[in-house]
Amino acid sequence: VNTKGVKLSPRLEQFLKSEKKLYINGEWVNSQSGKTFETVNPATGERLANVTEAGPEDIDLAVRAAREAFDRGPWSRMGTAERSRLIYKLADLMEDHKQELAQLETLDNGKPIRETLNADVPLAIEHFRYYAGWATKIVGQTIPVQGNYFNYTRHEAVGVVGQIIPWNFPLLMAAWKLGAALATGCTVVLKPAEQTPLSAIYLAKLIDEAGFPKGVVNVVPGFGETAGAPLVEHPLVDKVAFTGSTAVGKMIMRKASETLKRVTLELGGKSPNIVLPDADLSKAVPGALMGIMFNQGQVCCAGSRLYVQKGLYDNVVSDLVSLTKDIQQGNGLLEDTTMGPLVSSEQQKRVKGYIDKGVEEGAELLSGGNIPYSQGYFVAPTIFADVNHSMTIAKEEIFGPVVAAMPFSDIDDLIEKANDSHYGLAAGVWTQDIKKAHYIAHRLDAGTVWVNCYNVFDAASPFGGYKQSGIGREMGSYALNNYTEVKSVWINME
Ligand code: ADP
Repeated sequence: VNTKGVKLSPRLEQFLKSEKKLYINGEWVNSQSGKTFETVNPATGERLANVTEAGPEDIDLAVRAAREAFDRGPWSRMGTAERSRLIYKLADLMEDHKQELAQLETLDNGKPIRETLNADVPLAIEHFRYYAGWATKIVGQTIPVQGNYFNYTRHEAVGVVGQIIPWNFPLLMAAWKLGAALATGCTVVLKPAEQTPLSAIYLAKLIDEAGFPKGVVNVVPGFGETAGAPLVEHPLVDKVAFTGSTAVGKMIMRKASETLKRVTLELGGKSPNIVLPDADLSKAVPGALMGIMFNQGQVCCAGSRLYVQKGLYDNVVSDLVSLTKDIQQGNGLLEDTTMGPLVSSEQQKRVKGYIDKGVEEGAELLSGGNIPYSQGYFVAPTIFADVNHSMTIAKEEIFGPVVAAMPFSDIDDLIEKANDSHYGLAAGVWTQDIKKAHYIAHRLDAGTVWVNCYNVFDAASPFGGYKQSGIGREMGSYALNNYTEVKSVWINME
């Protein structure tokens, strides 16, 4: 895995050399404990940077800063146009630092530069622009009530929000969380994942440069139990927004219930991707492959269960195997790399464990399954056939480049199987029959259904899970509800 010839931008070089402190109350500060932690480049396993580690005392300071900024700072009194302008300014600064953000995301997470440059970073920028637009458009209602009263509603910011994000799309997840919170006038304590804290720190620099008042956004890298948990438990936090595993999501909900915090969760998935007999296979096969392999399979909505109609099954699976050979695995900084390493050695072990389990339980390993390089945390793109619905690899979220292909014959039986999961995040359907497309789309338990496409996102369209895939929706106008309280005001007109 070599990166010969790849030049990092000078501004990024400088950032990598600089100290990475906590961003609390508009200042860069050391942790109270003086602790730091390492973040590594998953393509090489080498240390990338030391990062200041937030502990419970730092979380307390960050929450108090956010509380002060919300209760007394200029933020809550600021006109909505001014808030909107600041969010637009942040988006413009990100645009100016696009190259640095993309390279940094690739270095810290491992994902290919072609994706960070063309997907992660531009989507994050557009996300801020979308919500900058909303800041001036959040309105209540006037309600024609009985009697001589004038009644209206105000959609007020919920207050201080604790946001905990994962490592699979570090910058984009920060944007998904911050956009709606800032548009509605909340203040935020953001805890990035311990595996990938760097782009959030870079973003905090841009937030600072944009001129957000102090305490509006605080960025506190640290670990789940020592930084995430105290944020969830803090009595001055009004709402928690979390993206991560279902197991941690459940724990967060339990803890947040102590103080009845508002909670939104975006959790795991085991999404079915369904190929019907009339599908255009020239699109469905690459679509199914991208559906699972995108971002090394580390996507909560990955199409990890591939259901193919019996008559096409053998052809589709063998086409899938040959297409897999075109995947260029390597260091994400190289322009021709189409698949990078997994994020960490732990994740590599977890995914390899699932692959071994698949073989052990009798699934047929058609492609991959191995660790291709001794350096870095790579896992080869893996295709299993002859998978039985009850096998572990058909049921549990693997969060890696591993697909379980299964044949089906009857559509209603297939829908039942597709829905037979604790999860309900997303689904894909490949067909040219418009009636069938709608029929299946309506019957699937999934927060998103993609027809003849997969992994398509837009800030304007809601995303979130049914069942144990989560609570609430991010993006679009829907996300605004998560960050507002509705107040009903009655005026006696007598
Ligand atoms: P993964 O297992 O894939 O790393 P997690 O759900 O553990 O996914 O992590 C997602 C985010 O949740 C990370 O920012 C992590 O630090 C945080 N986290 C983990 N455990 C806890 C916890 N007990 N309380 C709050 N946050 C947590």
